[in-house]
Amino acid sequence: MIFKKNLLVILTFLCYCSIAHGQKRDTYFFSREDIQNIKEAAQTSWGKTIIDSLKAQINVRMRHSLVVPKEEAGHLHDYFCPVHNVFFEFDWNKPTEHYCSFCDKTWSSDRINWAWIAIAQNKNLQFLTDCMYVYLSTSEKKYAELIRKMLLDYSDKYPNYKVHDKGRNKVVPENYSAKIYAQSLDEASWFSDACRAYSVVKPLLKKNEINKIETNLLREGVNLLLQRGGGGNWQVWNNSGLAAIGVALNDNSIVNIAIENSKVGYQHMMKTHVNKDGWWNEGSPNYHFFPLRAMLLTADAVRSMGYNLFDEQLEKMFTAPIKGIYSDMTFPSHNDGWYGVSLPTQIKLYEVAYARYKNPLFLNILQACYKIEDRLSPEALLTNTTVDLNEELKEPESYLFGQTGYGVLRSKNKTVVLKYGSSGGGHGHPDKLSISVHNGKSEILPDLGTCAYGIPDYLNWYKRTLSHNTVVVDFKDQSPTTGQIIYFEPTSIEAFTDKAYPGVNMTRKLHFTDNSLFDEFMCTSDSIHNYDYMLLLTEEPKIEEPFVNASLDEDISYRQIKNVRKSTLNKNFTVSTSTEKITFHIDNTSLFEVFTGKAPGIPPTNPDIITKTGTEKRPVAPCYPVIIRIIDRNMRIQANWEFF
Ligand SMILES: [Zn+2]
Ligand SMILES: [Zn+2]
Repeated sequence: MIFKKNLLVILTFLCYCSIAHGQKRDTYFFSREDIQNIKEAAQTSWGKTIIDSLKAQINVRMRHSLVVPKEEAGHLHDYFCPVHNVFFEFDWNKPTEHYCSFCDKTWSSDRINWAWIAIAQNKNLQFLTDCMYVYLSTSEKKYAELIRKMLLDYSDKYPNYKVHDKGRNKVVPENYSAKIYAQSLDEASWFSDACRAYSVVKPLLKKNEINKIETNLLREGVNLLLQRGGGGNWQVWNNSGLAAIGVALNDNSIVNIAIENSKVGYQHMMKTHVNKDGWWNEGSPNYHFFPLRAMLLTADAVRSMGYNLFDEQLEKMFTAPIKGIYSDMTFPSHNDGWYGVSLPTQIKLYEVAYARYKNPLFLNILQACYKIEDRLSPEALLTNTTVDLNEELKEPESYLFGQTGYGVLRSKNKTVVLKYGSSGGGHGHPDKLSISVHNGKSEILPDLGTCAYGIPDYLNWYKRTLSHNTVVVDFKDQSPTTGQIIYFEPTSIEAFTDKAYPGVNMTRKLHFTDNSLFDEFMCTSDSIHNYDYMLLLTEEPKIEEPFVNASLDEDISYRQIKNVRKSTLNKNFTVSTSTEKITFHIDNTSLFEVFTGKAPGIPPTNPDIITKTGTEKRPVAPCYPVIIRIIDRNMRIQANWEFF
């Protein structure tokens, strides 16, 4: 024992001497323990499935040229059919022809062709990562060799890529411009992963190869990213890219900037952009998991540089979404949250989180998710933990996310969400006091989130007040504002805003128990307004009242509603679908109008997320608006929902 202690003292002293004399410690992305876990897990039956699937993906990629594109890439959001909002079918052999199966024709334009290159670059990055995990797991050198060749190819081309932006039509490119991609955001993300692959194969490289990759690629990357950044998720990705390069180069000065810079570093971003309730402050699951991945990669990368960023606040970023899920583990797609984000689609983040925190709640999420999805992400190997699929998901409870500003009411497997909180910044939607309803199977009253930003529907519909289950006053969008909570308890919530429409006080109250929901919306004002109370159903409703053809033309958002029919009523009426009946009681007015129609509904899922059911490939689904129009000083609408 004494001998051991002495040895430890001597070793510590030697270690101290080498650092003190300028000899740097080794940096890594995967510790010895990580590599041990990966190798052991790869021997299990589930681990073997992961490795087989990675090898299969690598083989598919190798059917096409591995030569890196020599032209600069465009923006992924341009790779969508403008008619159907779907992602084009990518074909390695057709860089200028992009097929939409719903149009049954190919599209081509500069921006679409440039976007094709962005996808090719993303696939290359995936290839590097796949090869890295297979090499880490099996030590088969041919996978390291594939990484070596591709990184050397990038090192040849990187200095020649011109700094460019999405449009390439300005003398001085926009300040978000980059080299491989049109956005520094994508470039930073590329370096975050590519540096890992480099670091893993570096011990096999010759000195001149190391020199070439570090000079032409990594140092050039630092030069670019040090001049970039931007708000919110852009900055945390920039930090992640810089941190990864800093670790790969074993350069403390770069890592210090990425972590500690008082205006833009990781620690500053964590303090200023993550709400106390654990959500990223852009207020949507999509814009939570996106920066969360950057923060997780950063925390993981800088462990070998003496930082421990796996603290309570980062852990909260993983627990918050668990408290906010619907019973099928999806989320309301608040703000610019691309529809279809769910815990299973983010499971690789929870694999890493479980590997680092060993929080049993995260293990429970792995258990629940792998009932739905196959366990194929290589990050799972880090946990070296076999997941027991017989464990059930612990049922979440009603919950108020006070700072993010939405409340979740639950009754058995049904969920109602009221959103009142902060505006969400540039990715926010004018949707105060909007609700969404999930009946245990699907979202029957959805928050539609967004489609790709390159498509007309984005600004004409999804980012407008009218496409939300709230009230539109005088045909205008709400002003960006933060509403207030009045009270919250597990069965009830009430929230208020007087800033969404100056001069109008708006209050919404929900009570949810035993399969019935009571929803009361009140607007009061000193002057007369046009109040349009909106419900967007996923199923065409039945309303047993006389309707006539009509149109809605008050604003471009109204013009997105087709097949418009109108009924003029003066009494209670009922809206029914196959799963619920909603009875409306309208106060303070003798006559009101009800409009129905058809509009763009749930968009295809983000194509970055490949789902088992192919929701990323389906066209935009229709939704069925029901608008109750009241022209008066005040509006009070009570809706009684019964679920079958
Ligand atoms: Zn199309
Ligand atoms: Zn929205």
